[in-house]
Amino acid sequence: MRKIVKKIVVYRCETCRTDYDRRSDALKCERSGVEKRAYRKGDLVRTRAQCPCGQRFAIVGFILKVTGPYAAGPESLLKARGLKPGTGHLYLYQVEACRCPKCKSWVSASYPAAHLEAGA
Ligand SMILES: [Zn+2]
Ligand SMILES: [Zn+2]
Repeated sequence: MRKIVKKIVVYRCETCRTDYDRRSDALKCERSGVEKRAYRKGDLVRTRAQCPCGQRFAIVGFILKVTGPYAAGPESLLKARGLKPGTGHLYLYQVEACRCPKCKSWVSASYPAAHLEAGA
């Protein structure tokens, strides 16, 4: 038996730290742009939350954390999620936990800016 160490080369997008096999893919990711940060920690926002029980309900809450930027994924996925295509990297905004009106469990989730509105 012989021990073989294989070297692999990957190309990393400096923006989202995703590794790609092909240099052209990493460059494409990197050049695809970053969304302008729409909200900051502590901003009050409103959105629609989805509880694991299936209930959807409107919430108003403060942003706890902004994470990213993440690779936004293929345009088809963006459209399916109701997001504006054209920007390669998005931030996610974590909104404080709110209570599901149906099952009373606490729901906390992160949303893209396109799913948030400035709260009253
Ligand atoms: Zn990227
Ligand atoms: Zn629920």
